[in-house]
Amino acid sequence: MYGANFDPLLLIGLVYAVTLSIVSAYLWTSGRFSARMRYLLLIITIILGFATFSPMIPHQFQSLIERLADGQHIGTILFSGIIGLGILTLLAALFGRQFCGYLCPIGAVQEAAYTIPTKKILVQQKGILSVIRALFLVAIIGGPFLFGIALLDYFGFPDFFKLTFSTGTLVFIVILLIAIPIYRPFCRIICPMGAILQIGTLPAIYRIRRTDACIECGRCERACPTNEAKAGDNKGECYLCRRCIEVCPKDGALVYGRKRV
Ligand code: SF4
Ligand code: SF4
Repeated sequence: MYGANFDPLLLIGLVYAVTLSIVSAYLWTSGRFSARMRYLLLIITIILGFATFSPMIPHQFQSLIERLADGQHIGTILFSGIIGLGILTLLAALFGRQFCGYLCPIGAVQEAAYTIPTKKILVQQKGILSVIRALFLVAIIGGPFLFGIALLDYFGFPDFFKLTFSTGTLVFIVILLIAIPIYRPFCRIICPMGAILQIGTLPAIYRIRRTDACIECGRCERACPTNEAKAGDNKGECYLCRRCIEVCPKDGALVYGRKRV
């Protein structure tokens, strides 16, 4: 279903995202996914983002809506938007947000910013943030139809990753500066994929969960930047960052495995 505008670079990113989502899910379930692997994937993802502007699924999502609003034929955009979105949502429903965790370039650069050592501000109101992001999702879908506006471009990541200097680039640099003390502001407030994958993740069969070895020390809850480490949390905003696992003092108290029913 490719159109005349088929761009193989977009396909490279999509194949990378889907393949690595599956491989890393397997490594998580077998207990072999490590912090080192996560950092390696973050670096590769960032390089891919600058080199190929892919896998930029939030951008493809918006482009898909724009093409639909224009009544244009949609080739690659349809492929990478609908197929990519569908596969990644399905994978999220099985294994959680592997894509957001370390395979999305926009998420990866924010994750890199957050590793800069400085005092962190934990924004714990995940319900309010999700509502704001859902409103953005509505605006991103409605914008091209009602006003001919591609809202997401105003946040500057296309120019940033294409190394083009513009007002948008400055906007995204400001977002990255905010991402140094506050975890992933773009993902948690603005991104349409974030809204979709949060819902996709709710039924996730595999997720990080506590076992009977937990001694209720609360360290994981204090370390979690998205307020998803409590025993009853649904993990919709869990980015598989491993901070909870890394601070846990009891071996085996936090595992990635099938949720309890
Ligand atoms: S929430 Fe959006 S920007 Fe963030 S990692 Fe997920 S898809 Fe990428
Ligand atoms: S600290 Fe744990 S629960 Fe919180 S986002 Fe990271 S991996 Fe998920």
